Amino acid sequence: MFASDLEKHELIDFLTESPTKEIFHHQNQEEYLHAIGKVSLAVKKFLNHNQKPFSGVTPAQLRPLFDAVEFEKTHDNYDSLLKEVEQLYTNHAVAFHHPAYIAHLNCPIVIPAVAAEVMISSINSSIDTWDQSAGGTLIEQKLIEWTCDQIGYSKKADGIFTSGGTQSNLMGLLLARDHYAATVLNHNIKLYGLPAEASKFRIFVSEKAHFSIQKNASLLGLGEKSVIKIKTDRSFRMNMVLLEDAIKREIAQGNIPIAVVGTAGTTDFGNVDPLKELAAISKKYNTWFHIDAAYGCGLLLTDKYRSLLNGIELAHSVTVDYHKSFFQPVSSSGFLVNDQKYFNLITHHADYLNPKDHDDDGLPNQVNKSIQTTRRFDALKLWFTLRMMGRDKLGEYFNTIIETAAQIAERLQADSDFELMNESDISALVFRYRPKIVATNVCAMNQYIKKAMFNEGKALVAGTKINQQFYLKFTLLNPLTTLSDIENIIKIIKKHGNEYVRLNLASADFRRN
Ligand SMILES: *Cc1c(COP(=O)(O)O)cnc(C)c1O
Repeated sequence: MFASDLEKHELIDFLTESPTKEIFHHQNQEEYLHAIGKVSLAVKKFLNHNQKPFSGVTPAQLRPLFDAVEFEKTHDNYDSLLKEVEQLYTNHAVAFHHPAYIAHLNCPIVIPAVAAEVMISSINSSIDTWDQSAGGTLIEQKLIEWTCDQIGYSKKADGIFTSGGTQSNLMGLLLARDHYAATVLNHNIKLYGLPAEASKFRIFVSEKAHFSIQKNASLLGLGEKSVIKIKTDRSFRMNMVLLEDAIKREIAQGNIPIAVVGTAGTTDFGNVDPLKELAAISKKYNTWFHIDAAYGCGLLLTDKYRSLLNGIELAHSVTVDYHKSFFQPVSSSGFLVNDQKYFNLITHHADYLNPKDHDDDGLPNQVNKSIQTTRRFDALKLWFTLRMMGRDKLGEYFNTIIETAAQIAERLQADSDFELMNESDISALVFRYRPKIVATNVCAMNQYIKKAMFNEGKALVAGTKINQQFYLKFTLLNPLTTLSDIENIIKIIKKHGNEYVRLNLASADFRRN
């Protein structure tokens, strides 16, 4: 009656509701398609529902819903589960794809990459070793090779996908530290830990560099104080004269410069440090040269603006964040070095995982180059993206973002109610609302605007401080954001600003009485 035992099995499962139906397995493919289908419909609903980037929900409003959840009671179908998740999450999730979301460095994502996510999680390869990934390892390697080519590295270069810019920056400083100890002090940190001289190691960065540099210095046992922050010039790029002064001063004090870190696209201003000059200074003082291009890596995609990154090829190591500027879902990042030999500094052979003889047999084990072990196959997202869309199309998106940001800068500059702080190399604009007619506490007013906008949720912007003063920030990463979106956002800013003035005058009246 049955063509095979398997069919018999499937029928029995169907009739009896198999206790193993949730396991990803060929017997359960209908269940798989059903679940994925339901979830994609829920995501579609999220797209249609969120007509503004944020609902304005507060933790106090959401917590009671979470208190009511009992893990002892499970859902018996996806509709019921998704209804719960809708209330707890998707109804209020911040919509990075919305054109009026211009707060942090969160890009809208491209659909080929999302489709890849389904495959990544389903097949669930781990890219640490060849014997857990096979072709996955080669896909990752080919994309690393491609990225190295975009940077302008030679064939000796190599790299690895990481969890984010923070981890990539950690690897840059880790290699800088261990390379210095190995080559100058003849000391192997991997085996023996930090040498006595480590407390004198110094890392030089712009004062506008990402905070992960300090955090990583502390994780590496060098302490946050090992990071020497160099003031920026008027366009928020590291000042080269001050850098060299600082290096000389530290040397005079008996300290040891081990690394210079350039930022290609600062988080706040999107400006690129003078990379060629940094390379020359780093060479002169024989330090490691790392470039944090977490944000600026998008410039690799566009011939029109690629020259902003000139000099990036001179770095020993580079951080790129595909999930910031390549329109990739979190997480997807890369760490690249100009010579693969540097990875030997961190390779550790485990007998059960990546024994030395694998290297001799030519089996590629990516774990040799990573500080993670089990690792997601994030590379597949970028593969889907580049193979479906190509570099130039992504580059066009990036061009649009840069050009829209430039137009917004002009718009803000022309408006006497605004004070624009910077011209961005990329797409981050720092400014504040400062209507000339009213004398009021400008910092407090802009803080009020930021908070009121978040609560209202119609448009999300970021905030930052320069010289203790509070400013608003637009970070553009969405090619769909238009000038008319920005006009609306400007109206919203003015509305809340004027509201602040009114409230403040009212309370001043109240105090007078
Ligand atoms: C965002 C950012 C980082 C950190 O990257 P994550 O992916 O968030 O870990 C590092 N450097 C710069 C310049 C950034 O903008």
